[in-house]
Amino acid sequence: MNLLLIRLIIFGLLLFAGLKLYRMYRAWKLEREELLENDPDQEGGKMVRCTWCQVHVPETEALRDKGEWFCSSAHRDRYLEEQKPDD
Ligand SMILES: [Zn+2]
Repeated sequence: MNLLLIRLIIFGLLLFAGLKLYRMYRAWKLEREELLENDPDQEGGKMVRCTWCQVHVPETEALRDKGEWFCSSAHRDRYLEEQKPDD
């Protein structure tokens, strides 16, 4: 069999697979963007304030505990530690 022909077939397959992947990625991205736009809770990245350090963080990255927002689990733990009644 002709080596050039084999190379052409392999190249064609790679191109086809690449195009398919690219289209899948584009469809996935579009779907994601539409989902974010249609979700009323997102509001394009809502910011919340950490109860412990007062730093503003995106709601998606923040932690919620006992009705309060925290930037990290460390600050949540420290806040909950402070809230503990003294013995
Ligand atoms: Zn914090």
